[in-house]
Amino acid sequence: MSASSYDVLIIGSGPGGYIAAVRCGQLGLKTAIIEKYPTLGGTCLNVGCIPSKAVLESTELYHKATAQFAEHGIAADNLRADLPRMMERKDKVVSKVCDGVVYLMKKNKVDILHGVASFVDATTVRVVPTDGGSGEEQRLTAKNIIIATGSKPSTLPFITLDKERVITSTEALALRELPKHLIIVGGGVIGLELGSVYARLGSKVSVVEYTDAIIPSMDRTLGKELLRSLKKQGLEFYLSHKVTAVTREGETVKLTATPAAGGADLQLEGDYCLVSVGRRPYTDGLNLAAAGVEVDEKGRVKVNDELQTNVPGIWALGDVVRGAMLAHKASDEGVFVAERIAGQKPHVNYLLIPNVVYTWPEVAGVGYTEEQLKEQGLAYKSGSFPFSASGRALAGADTEGLVKVLTAADTDEILGVHMIGARIADIVAEAVAVMSFRGAAEDVALMSHAHPTYAEAFKEACLNASGLGALNM
Ligand code: FAD
Repeated sequence: MSASSYDVLIIGSGPGGYIAAVRCGQLGLKTAIIEKYPTLGGTCLNVGCIPSKAVLESTELYHKATAQFAEHGIAADNLRADLPRMMERKDKVVSKVCDGVVYLMKKNKVDILHGVASFVDATTVRVVPTDGGSGEEQRLTAKNIIIATGSKPSTLPFITLDKERVITSTEALALRELPKHLIIVGGGVIGLELGSVYARLGSKVSVVEYTDAIIPSMDRTLGKELLRSLKKQGLEFYLSHKVTAVTREGETVKLTATPAAGGADLQLEGDYCLVSVGRRPYTDGLNLAAAGVEVDEKGRVKVNDELQTNVPGIWALGDVVRGAMLAHKASDEGVFVAERIAGQKPHVNYLLIPNVVYTWPEVAGVGYTEEQLKEQGLAYKSGSFPFSASGRALAGADTEGLVKVLTAADTDEILGVHMIGARIADIVAEAVAVMSFRGAAEDVALMSHAHPTYAEAFKEACLNASGLGALNM
């Protein structure tokens, strides 16, 4: 058995782990990354952000062609969506980005080990190869170990995920046939993005959600607007319904749910059921106990504000620790931990981590929601601008949605920006930039914005919030 020693050993190659590895390499630390799957990139690159955006883009084009081209004066008859080809294209995109991570590791002199990592003690990790047993088991020691093992889809205790008909997002991103009726348990980001994909291709899609809103953790205005848009696109919603059973009989999946308002149970029958009720932190097989690393009541590795676990020299980040389960949050933490190990004083501003839903219209938010400001009793002002009043949106025939800006009542500092509409996944970066510099709505209102752009809606909402008066409404 061989033994190697490192400054930093990273377990997991998702956006948290691989970005930490890049930064460690740049800082001159002798680094290795361990990944149990054959490809690097973790959930995000293999079965998450990237493949979902690839199929969202393909189906969005198809939807535009079938639903909007006529309005633009383009006749597009006999259009046909080819799901297997869309999936092949998605696979190529995934393989390109995963290869990119291998390139980054080599460029930054990071050793790559494929195998399942588990703790032997607080400074030693055992790696059992996952390539069919041909490789040699290794023991590695390190001054610092970063746990970046991410998350896995969770389910409800009474639902058995057979991964054929009762599926998670991973299988939903690899279907080779179009569901006739896709039932989705959970109205959060993943369920709505994947629901949109199949609804655009012609599947009947029914979403059953326990709470009284979709995307309930975002500003409530956004959920209401998105609900309206998605209903128009044909998705069916059952809010305030508690799912009590999901069973499979042959190629049929049956769901039962109890409405909070009382009355008869809802009974749905479909050919696929996507269970998207959240994700759980993943530490299976890591043998955390051997190192003495503690987890909290939700199974997340416990960390302090510096992302240190209770064991000196062991760090944790990304989906496996507290906070939003987002790729850019994991990456920001990856840079943070690498720089902390190198003795620097990095900072992550968790309030300014943006949240995006890639439905159409897109949804994005950053900072405090209106509900949070009310809860905290903070005095605020609100300004908004609808895309129906935007020249660019009218020219593009994408007039749904709005931008809402929340500011401190006394200083005009922007406290939250919440948007739904075309292209706002990119516009939210402007909000993050301004808020990072603690800018006021008036600052944005006085900045020149190219005309005509969707981004002007942010400026107009700021004009409205700062009391300067909208220029285009
Ligand atoms: P992960 O990406 O989960 O990576 C962890 C890695 O650790 C995995 O590769 C795993 O195999 C490996 N590992 C685990 N245990 C071991 C072990 N013992 N030994 C060796 N290796 C191990 N986020 C966004 O910000 N934007 C999006 O658009 C977005 N879309 C998403 C769409 C879907 C369908 C899903 C499922 C998720 C999406 N996410 C999105 C969330 C995002 O994928 C995660 O937040 C992100 O991947 C977390 O990164 P991570 O590095 O913490 O963990």
